[in-house]
Amino acid sequence: MTSHRVVVLPWLRLLGRFLIDNWLAITIGRTVFAWRALNDVELEHELEHVRQWRRYGVAFPAVYFAAALRARRAGKSWYRDNRFEEDARKAASSIKKR
Ligand SMILES: [Zn+2]
Repeated sequence: MTSHRVVVLPWLRLLGRFLIDNWLAITIGRTVFAWRALNDVELEHELEHVRQWRRYGVAFPAVYFAAALRARRAGKSWYRDNRFEEDARKAASSIKKR
């Protein structure tokens, strides 16, 4: 299991809506901030982001942002088509199959 902690703060729900409709959680370092408790699949998605943070360190926000820009320039969604989100969805889907 990837070392992490989850912080649930219901008031984050409103804050995050400015960025993404239907958002649930954001991972910073090994801390997952969510506005409600996560199920196993949702947690695994965020744990992939924990691993991404571990891989890139403090550079992660910059490489994530660069990937978002690349997706947008290609006419795609900065979020859904961001390769870091694709990897996180892949990790989460591996949980569903168990
Ligand atoms: Zn994600």
